[in-house]
Amino acid sequence: MHDEQGGGGHAGAWALALVPVGLAAALLFAQPDPAFAAAAALIALAAAILATLWLRARAKARAQGDVARQLASRLEEMQDRIWELTESVARHRDLLEAQDDVIARRDLEGRLTFVNDAYCRAFGFDRDAVLGTTAEPNRADAPDDGADEGEPSRQSFDARFDTPEGPRWFAWSITPIRDRNGVLVEIQCVGRDITRRKDVEADLRRNRDAAEEASRAKSRFLAAVSHEIRTPMSGIIGMSDLLLDTELTPEQTSYAQAVRGSAGALLGLIDDILDFSKIEAGRLEPTAAPFAITTLVRDVVELLAPRAEEKGLEIAQVVSRDLPTTLIGDSDRLRQVLLNLAGNAIKFTQRGGVVIEVHRHDGPAERIGLDITVRDTGIGISQEAQQRIFEEFEQLDAGPDRRHGGAGLGLAISQRIVKAMGGEITVSSRSGQGSTFTVRLALAPAGRHSEPGPLALDGRRVLLAAPSSIVRATLAAMLREEGARVTVAANRDALDKRLSRTTPYDSVIVDWAIADADTPFAPANGTSAIALLPPSQRDQLERITGAGFSGYLIKPVRRESLIARLAATPEAPLPLSDTALPASDPHGEALDVLVAEDNDVNAMLTTVLLRRLGHRPEHVRDGAAAIRRLREAPKRNVDIVLMDIQMPGLDGLEATRRLRAIERREPARPRIPVVALTANAFTEDRAACIEAGMDAVLTKPVDRDDLAACLAEYAYGTAPARRTA
Ligand code: ADP
Repeated sequence: MHDEQGGGGHAGAWALALVPVGLAAALLFAQPDPAFAAAAALIALAAAILATLWLRARAKARAQGDVARQLASRLEEMQDRIWELTESVARHRDLLEAQDDVIARRDLEGRLTFVNDAYCRAFGFDRDAVLGTTAEPNRADAPDDGADEGEPSRQSFDARFDTPEGPRWFAWSITPIRDRNGVLVEIQCVGRDITRRKDVEADLRRNRDAAEEASRAKSRFLAAVSHEIRTPMSGIIGMSDLLLDTELTPEQTSYAQAVRGSAGALLGLIDDILDFSKIEAGRLEPTAAPFAITTLVRDVVELLAPRAEEKGLEIAQVVSRDLPTTLIGDSDRLRQVLLNLAGNAIKFTQRGGVVIEVHRHDGPAERIGLDITVRDTGIGISQEAQQRIFEEFEQLDAGPDRRHGGAGLGLAISQRIVKAMGGEITVSSRSGQGSTFTVRLALAPAGRHSEPGPLALDGRRVLLAAPSSIVRATLAAMLREEGARVTVAANRDALDKRLSRTTPYDSVIVDWAIADADTPFAPANGTSAIALLPPSQRDQLERITGAGFSGYLIKPVRRESLIARLAATPEAPLPLSDTALPASDPHGEALDVLVAEDNDVNAMLTTVLLRRLGHRPEHVRDGAAAIRRLREAPKRNVDIVLMDIQMPGLDGLEATRRLRAIERREPARPRIPVVALTANAFTEDRAACIEAGMDAVLTKPVDRDDLAACLAEYAYGTAPARRTA
């Protein structure tokens, strides 16, 4: 700014010089001589011109000063910018170089145009030597994908490269660099050393594999031990059963019953542990075979009926009639789940009862959605506890006042089974208000879905009298589904009142509990009277006819039995029989039974059972002895073989295979049925037995009725007369 000050100084001097000139001119002007006046005028003019010139020059100088100042400030700004840019470039370079990531750029011919320090360090490159060349770091493994070929687009991959420190893992990210017009100009490769992460991952994997193997080993151990425990347990149970069948004092009976009860509980526990360890070991693969859902639910309910009756509970089932008769799934596993849920329901209920219902819901395409609910009127489960009960070893009333047996594994096992089937178990309950467990599944129908048949009881008027709301609700639901018009009564008074009205009924169904045997029941003409009996009161049949009934139904009632009873006309007297009657041996003929069993206690148990059933058992200790004995047949007759699976030397499976081979070679020989006796209750073991040529499988401890039914079915070659309740 000193320029302006300088200009200002000159101008000031000029102005000061003009002042005396002006004064001189004024003095001359005051002279009377015209010459002086002219001179004064000239001087004044000159002074004015000079002043004007000076003023102009001064304005110009000012303007020039402005431009110069502007230029100077621009210049300064630019200098600042340049400085900032240099700073930023340096910073970026520092950043780039300080990176641990290796960075390189290549032109389209693959020549390196840029490498950072890390890149040079990592691969032992000299920057000046590699720039402009197509040098590449060495892959430690052969590339397994086309990651560095083809049209370059953004991609990332992990690869191992040789470095001066040995092979190291890099995670690469390849980015195409394009110019402003989108034309590909360079390829940028950024690699991050992930060797440590890869090492940690490998360690974790190794640890996980080791842990899984350890867990599998533990499960195998548990399975083996459980199996070993099962064999002597069968002995204890069977022997105490035999003992209980002998003459005992009341005291002895109670001790023997305690032994039997404890052994039964222990066996249940071992089964659970065995199952759980198997599921934990990842060996749960649901099978897929056609099965009838109606039969499955009915079997579960009938199997549990005696236990329910013992506690004074009702148990009933309703399967919607719009479900296809056959579905595809793992019926053994589903039965296990339902037995567990319904078993729990009985266990945790003191009054009322349990209902299993099956309804259809919209499943995914090609599937039938099933909702199987198990509802009880028991103690219920609090909201908070509902989260926990599906965990293993979770029991709500654990502690000193725990009254209910079990290991807390049932629900954990059930949930895993249902999950493996692609479904889910849920619970809804309130403390003290009963519980509802729902198994939601989607199964494929076997074959094309046919519409349900015509309504079997269309328009029939039925009066249903039972004190239990469970019995009333389930029977009424079945009857209504078949088209019947149902009236219900909860007690004898209500029943009598209904009957005294003029409304005629086609059928009256009365629970035996309110059908006073002493006051015979006299329904109007044309009305069939049917008594509802608990399974333990089948022997009441004579009293039932005496009480005015023309037929009966055993609880839990099957839909088919109900329809059969009601659809029959009262004119044609109803036969006093039911599908659910116990099997009685129609032949009674003594059989020659070969028992192959290495455990002496179990052998004794089986032979005693057989003798009590009226047969002639013969015992051998291993598979080889069994084959030797069977070769003597038919000269020394054997009607059927009961074959243990695990025996020293020749096991049961191999012995059966040899027997079948002998029979194939000698066609004249009659085929001898073989029934497996196994401590393994698993389906795959069953499959192995059937594959080896066995006819059936009985699980130890052998149940007398099961044994009788099995002999009836296979030894006599007749249709099964199965035990059902
Ligand atoms: P547990 O062998 O003890 O029955 P589960 O896994 O089957 O084992 O059940 C776990 C717990 O859940 C039971 O101990 C009980 O406390 C509770 N529970 C299961 N079902 C019911 C039910 N129907 N009503 C009330 N509580 C139940």
